[in-house]
Amino acid sequence: MEQTTHLQSSDDFAQRKTEKEIRVALRGPKENHSILGVTAQKYHCWNCGANAENSTQFLFCEACRSVQPVNESTDYFQIFGLGREYKVKVEELEKKYKDWQKKLHPDLVHSKSQREREYAAEQSARVIDAYRTLTDPLSRAIYLVKLEGVLVNEEERITDPELLAEVMELREAVDEAEGTRALNEIQVQLQEKLRYWSNSFEDAYLNKNYDDALASIRRMTYYKRANEEIVKKL
Ligand SMILES: [Zn+2]
Repeated sequence: MEQTTHLQSSDDFAQRKTEKEIRVALRGPKENHSILGVTAQKYHCWNCGANAENSTQFLFCEACRSVQPVNESTDYFQIFGLGREYKVKVEELEKKYKDWQKKLHPDLVHSKSQREREYAAEQSARVIDAYRTLTDPLSRAIYLVKLEGVLVNEEERITDPELLAEVMELREAVDEAEGTRALNEIQVQLQEKLRYWSNSFEDAYLNKNYDDALASIRRMTYYKRANEEIVKKL
């Protein structure tokens, strides 16, 4: 029943990571081997040449405090000092996000060189992307499976007849709902469904069952869209 044509195991991923589609899966990371001495394994500060002790979170050089260029091999979780887990502590994420934004703020780096100001702007944009991706349960799920080399086809049509019937029913209910109260009631149901499928995603992800993980993502996508329809009507 379930479509799994876009599924790849992580073993496959390791073997095939040079392929173009994998690059797409990871939002086309450019491996910056050639840029300013940054390599996939070891990081040298472009300014003072110091080696980074920690290969992650290398936004600042510990030795000379200069801002480093974006390193795409640092994933969004690492940016916030988090492990690759579906459950995230939102307060913790928020706190670290604010810390980074403070450190990368244009006012704070204005006295630095043009090059560093550019690095800071790029890092800041990436921190924002990372924060947005990780705070939303659906985009966090999509990002997590992408890190495992599993592609999510966001344009995929529904083929599961059970889900198709449910989505049509839902659409009808939203169309016919009159007044804020009726719409809010549907929203409450949608939130429950989102919670349910978000938990079911987590189970599937922990068990490396990417078929089920994708099925949960599909469900969450439709409920989220339905919720957006309601927000438009409200
Ligand atoms: Zn340095």
